[in-house]
Amino acid sequence: MLGELMHGPDQIQADWNRGTLRLTWSAIEVQEIPFRLLRGLCPCAVCVNELTGERTFGVSDAAEDVRPEGMELVGNYAVKISWSDRHQTGLYTWEYLRKIAGTLSKG
Ligand SMILES: [Zn+2]
Repeated sequence: MLGELMHGPDQIQADWNRGTLRLTWSAIEVQEIPFRLLRGLCPCAVCVNELTGERTFGVSDAAEDVRPEGMELVGNYAVKISWSDRHQTGLYTWEYLRKIAGTLSKG
């Protein structure tokens, strides 16, 4: 499991029409995460209080039409997303993206 997470997705694609970030893993598995959800789940210190773990910016705070304006790979473990609301400190690790996508596919 951990070994699997060492590898990033084969492809990360922002789909403007669907409003989702599409992740292709191992060429066979495709997952999509809505932009707004992803923005609302930003794990950075601005959005989550590091001491208390309390979220100070959530999905309901995110604009309905929020979208990534830039994506930058960080090492081989994460992607940094620059959002249209000018927020750009969020680092989304592969593990975190997997986790979010996993909650979507359940049920
Ligand atoms: Zn953030």
